[in-house]
Amino acid sequence: MSAITDLQLARMLLRQWKPAPGTYTAPAAVVTWDGAQASFELTGAAPDPAAVVLYPGLGRPLAQAIGAPPQRPTGPTISALVANYAAATAPLQSAAGSVALEARFLSRLNAGCRKCPHWKEADLAGRGRCDSVFCHCTQRLLWLADEVCPEHKWAA
Ligand code: SF4
Repeated sequence: MSAITDLQLARMLLRQWKPAPGTYTAPAAVVTWDGAQASFELTGAAPDPAAVVLYPGLGRPLAQAIGAPPQRPTGPTISALVANYAAATAPLQSAAGSVALEARFLSRLNAGCRKCPHWKEADLAGRGRCDSVFCHCTQRLLWLADEVCPEHKWAA
């Protein structure tokens, strides 16, 4: 059983992070991951707010969360991030180390995605969508520290 963060749990539920099958323990839940599906039991601890932003189902009762389809992430819009990065990422800062430096976010956005034919900045209500066939989750979280480009146009 491996320890993970609530943010990693949220990314697993969104299928943005696909670790080896096994059982993982996050502060908010114990998760069984078979490589494609996750089932989990909440521990009763309050989930990391940043993880709830990514996967709102973590904030709901277990019965509603298990088996529910992945929900659209509700993170900050690109325009909000560009206008005031500190304010836009403030609700996400509780997951220590999860938020990339502003310079890295801007580099990813301006030197990477905005020059890429796969980038649809207005999609997902202004959160931006990557339509690369290698992007299984469509939304790239440019503000997330360990995010990667599926086409290797920028690194974490
Ligand atoms: S392929 Fe990479 S650079 Fe292009 S939109 Fe997707 S994440 Fe951005």
